[in-house]
Amino acid sequence: MTTDNLIGLIVDDDFASKHIPPYPRPSFISFEHPLRIRAILNHLERTNILSNERIVKVKPKEISQTTIELAHSKYHIEGIKKISKMGGGLLEEEVFVTEDTYELALKAVGGTIEAIEGVLNNKYTQSFALIRPPGHHALREKASGLCIFNNIANAILYFQKHLNIHQKIAIIDIDDHFGDGLARYFYDDPTILYFSIHEFDFTEGDLGMVDELGIDKGIGKNINFPVPEGITNEDFYYCLDLLDPILTEFQPDLIVVATGFDMYYADPIGNCLLTSIAYNKFAERLLKIAEVICESKIAFILEGGYDIVGLPYCVEAIIKALLKEKYDPPDFEKNLSFFSDSKRKDIEKIKSYLKSLLTPYWNKI
Ligand SMILES: [Zn+2]
Repeated sequence: MTTDNLIGLIVDDDFASKHIPPYPRPSFISFEHPLRIRAILNHLERTNILSNERIVKVKPKEISQTTIELAHSKYHIEGIKKISKMGGGLLEEEVFVTEDTYELALKAVGGTIEAIEGVLNNKYTQSFALIRPPGHHALREKASGLCIFNNIANAILYFQKHLNIHQKIAIIDIDDHFGDGLARYFYDDPTILYFSIHEFDFTEGDLGMVDELGIDKGIGKNINFPVPEGITNEDFYYCLDLLDPILTEFQPDLIVVATGFDMYYADPIGNCLLTSIAYNKFAERLLKIAEVICESKIAFILEGGYDIVGLPYCVEAIIKALLKEKYDPPDFEKNLSFFSDSKRKDIEKIKSYLKSLLTPYWNKI
C-alpha cells in the first residue's frame, strides 16, 4: 500500500459534543448540532468504513489565534472569545455562540488546515474534514449564517501567506447556500477558482448571482451557478457538466470541496431534492478529473447538511467513491421519485447565460 492511496479523515470527538445550539428545534440555528458529527461517526463505525486500511484517522492541526488573524479581524476574533467566555449568546439571528464555541471554531480551522496540508504534502491523497461549525458564510469582520470562522479561506490564506505556498486551488462549493464569505476572500485572486452551485431566490434576489465573475486579475475565476429550489440528481449532474472543462483548463494543483449536504431532499434548511447517490456520482466524477489534472488531490471540507438521518449516508457516498467501492444507497431512498421537468428549462437558461458570460475568460467551455 503506497501513501498515495490513503484518505485522511479529520476527526475529533469535540465536534460531536461541543457548541450545542441553545434553542430546540425547529429554530433555524438548532440544526447545526453536534449530533451531525456523532451520527456520521457512528455510521462510519457501524459500516466498518473506519477500519478500511486506506482510511487514516487524523486529528486537527493545533493552531493559535495568530493563524485565525490571517482571515479575520482581531475585533471579530476577540468578540467570539469574549462571548464564549461570558457563557455564550446570539449574534444576530443566524449565529449562536456557546462557552466552547471559540475553541471549537479554532479547531475547525485546524481541521481544515490538516485536511489540505496533508494532501499538499502527500501524507494522503484525499481527505475529508468532518468538522463544525461550518465556515463558508463567515466574513473577515463577522460571523454569519451558522459560521464563526471561514475554515477554507483561513486554511488557504495560511498556505499562501504563512508557508508562502501559491499553488492554484479550485474550490467547488456544493452547499445549498451561496458561500458569500468564501467568494469574497478570493474575488480578485486569479490563483483561486471559486465555483458554486447554490439554491437561489430568483424572486427576492441575493448575492450569488450569475454575473458575479470576480474582479481585476480574478475576473472569470468566480463562477456562480444559481439554481431554483427543488433541483434533483439529474439537474445537479447537468450543472456539473460545466465544471469538467473549467477544471481541465484551470489545471489546479488541488481541489477543495466546500462539502455542504443541505441540497439533500430531507434537509430541514435546504429546499432541493438530491439523494445520497448524487454525492457519490459527484465524487466519482471529480476524482476522475483530479486523476488527470492534479494527481487525484482532493480535500473535502464539511459545510452544511442538517438531516441527521441522511447526512451519514451522504458522507459514506463520497468516501465510497474515493475508495472506488460500490455505494449502496439506503432502502428509504430507493423508492423516491421526484419530477423536475419544470426546473430544467430554467436551469438550461441560466447555464447558457453563464457560459456566455464566461466565454471571454475560458477557451474550453
Ligand atoms: Zn448551507
